[in-house]
Amino acid sequence: MSRRFRVPFIATWSWHKYCVSPVKAHAGAAETQLMGIARRAVAMRTQLLIFTDLDGTLLDERYSFDAAQDALAEIRARGIPLILTSSKTLAEMRLLRRAMNLEHPLIFENGAGLALPENYFRSGAEIGPETPLRVEHFGPTYAEIRSTLNRLRERRGFPFRGFGDMSAREVAALTGLDEIAAQRARQRHGSEPGVWEGSEAIRRDFVAELERAGLRAVSGGRFLHIMPRVDKAETMRELVGRFAAAQPDVRFRIIAAGDSPNDAEMLQLADLAVVIQRPDASWMPLKRREGVIRSPLPGPAGWQACIHRLLEEQETP
Ligand SMILES: [Mg+2]
Repeated sequence: MSRRFRVPFIATWSWHKYCVSPVKAHAGAAETQLMGIARRAVAMRTQLLIFTDLDGTLLDERYSFDAAQDALAEIRARGIPLILTSSKTLAEMRLLRRAMNLEHPLIFENGAGLALPENYFRSGAEIGPETPLRVEHFGPTYAEIRSTLNRLRERRGFPFRGFGDMSAREVAALTGLDEIAAQRARQRHGSEPGVWEGSEAIRRDFVAELERAGLRAVSGGRFLHIMPRVDKAETMRELVGRFAAAQPDVRFRIIAAGDSPNDAEMLQLADLAVVIQRPDASWMPLKRREGVIRSPLPGPAGWQACIHRLLEEQETP
């Protein structure tokens, strides 16, 4: 625990294309070189944006984030946007966002949807945890995904059972959630998790058919998620573009935290990847080598340790 993280803020994916040069093309005749430097320093303020997975990252196996409360308070005190980015539904994430007292956007259902507080990017707007959220979808709606699934099952008899085919009680039994929480997990906008009850060979056929229909299947734990062709990374990129457009004089440094393969692209794309230890003391592999820190503990305790170190590094570059 005494090991000090080195945090080489090396941008492997640059957001600078969104950034406007702080040095304007013209400089007033009366402006000294020193004033120009001062203006530039002010103009290029750096702002952290933290994108974080929930299950196994900011939430432990009991769906608690208690072990990360101190880091959450510090992030809030510093005004750093913390963007929850999860396979969970909007209904599930709204509750967590409120419990964490966050006022920032949400990326739900693995990137199939984005929820932005109204007027979030309007300067001077009063935004709080209760500000209404404006929801956007990327890809087909849930009804369209269900209709594609039904068509494929009628034609080929694929043994896939989605949450939409199950009662809340059945979803509760499969997930370990209580029935009210299972209802929230069934309120879907743009993806369908379910169980595969057939052979691997038929599953390959199913995946190929989904791809022909413009969808894909992502394995996540015991469920197969039927998704549009978007992921957390793409929706993160979309949202960072909006931050950059709203604040062209700010240089954004993107931190992404996660524990599972469905976070890998998001971690690959960020300036700094925080890989959270899994309960078996392993870390998911990442392609990148630079700008990666691995948490010394699993779940929210590991998340908090990394965030504390990062914020310390910010203070003492
Ligand atoms: Mg996870």
